[in-house]
Amino acid sequence: MKLDTRAIRYLTGEDWRVLTAVEMGSKNHEVVPTPLISQISGLRGASGVNRSISNLAKVGLIAKVKNAKYDGYRLTYGGLDYLALNTFIKRKSVYSIGNQVGVGKESDIYVVADESGKQIILKIHRLGRISFRTVKANRDYLRNRNSASWMYMSRLAAMKEFAFMKVLKDNGFPVPTPLDQARHCVLMELIDSYPLRQVTSIADPPKLYADLMALILRFASQGLIHGDFNEFNILVNEETQQPVVIDFPQMVSIDHANAKEYFDRDVQCIKTFFERKFKFTSDDEGPTWDDVKRTGKLDIEVEASGFSKKQSKELDKYLQQITQIDEREDDEDSGNVSADEDEDDEDEDEDGDELGQDSNAEEEVEDGHSKPSKDNHEIK
Ligand code: ADP
Ligand code: MG
Repeated sequence: MKLDTRAIRYLTGEDWRVLTAVEMGSKNHEVVPTPLISQISGLRGASGVNRSISNLAKVGLIAKVKNAKYDGYRLTYGGLDYLALNTFIKRKSVYSIGNQVGVGKESDIYVVADESGKQIILKIHRLGRISFRTVKANRDYLRNRNSASWMYMSRLAAMKEFAFMKVLKDNGFPVPTPLDQARHCVLMELIDSYPLRQVTSIADPPKLYADLMALILRFASQGLIHGDFNEFNILVNEETQQPVVIDFPQMVSIDHANAKEYFDRDVQCIKTFFERKFKFTSDDEGPTWDDVKRTGKLDIEVEASGFSKKQSKELDKYLQQITQIDEREDDEDSGNVSADEDEDDEDEDEDGDELGQDSNAEEEVEDGHSKPSKDNHEIK
């Protein structure tokens, strides 16, 4: 789903109030009844509310839900994007939007600029996307969710990612500086490096390999396992050859029930990549789970940051399902989808079409990554 900010400057104060009202109403209603929207918005006069509803629906920020027992609307991902961006604009964290530079499995990555013109990264979490194109098992858990609950999961992912990045950065780990978070979005420092998978000139593979293994152990010594430590989530600067780690929604504590498995998987990902790409196999078999010695408690510290244990569990449950799917996709032919899954794809596309396409957001290159461009559009 593309981020299309063209309509943002045309929204009136009333439109924003109505959009916020739909969001608030969504907390208790899958379909928010029109009278409730009107009531929450606090606007006098039905005509103003109706005008705003129609404006918002026209640009795809809310969607009319047909065949419901009553007339109502739901917030779309586009609407949630606008609310998050508006928060960033008000906080002066964002001033303009540039190009899309990455499409993750469950996120969209844009270069944006703050008021001083400095380029930063906007990561928009889009959980639920993967469930539209995957296999039959797990589907009950994944399917029986409505768009509001996906949005809630995306918020949790953004909150968790921001909380972990902050603790990691404060403790000297090589991660982007987290800048702000609102709803399902995270703002962070733009790292002028490419994912390891794309970097062609690694001067000293054994050294980088050793650095990365040391990093896995350093995370673990502070109580943390990245959980998706691979060539896509490690950015390597071509000049300095320094790695920076990104992508934290699946991070777990070393006290997690599956901690050893996740730790071993992180280690194995790096081994496999270095064997394949550089034909490099280390003489050192490790590191192993037995090498992990706890010296710090960042896993505990992060709990105090506003991302609660309960929220962590909710997100964890979802992410575990997704990880299982990932592994299966590796084994199976991923073209193997049934007819009803194709239908879901259409559902998802509908949202995208409602928003229209932004031609400026399409300059992706191989591996979903392109060079940041300077031609941002102002959104205010
Ligand atoms: P996902 O969770 O969808 O995998 P990631 O956080 O891994 O999302 O980001 C996807 C891609 O976007 C990365 O592989 C990288 O190319 C780019 N990217 C993400 N964050 C940054 C950043 N801070 N600086 C530069 N590029 C980034
Ligand atoms: Mg990633």
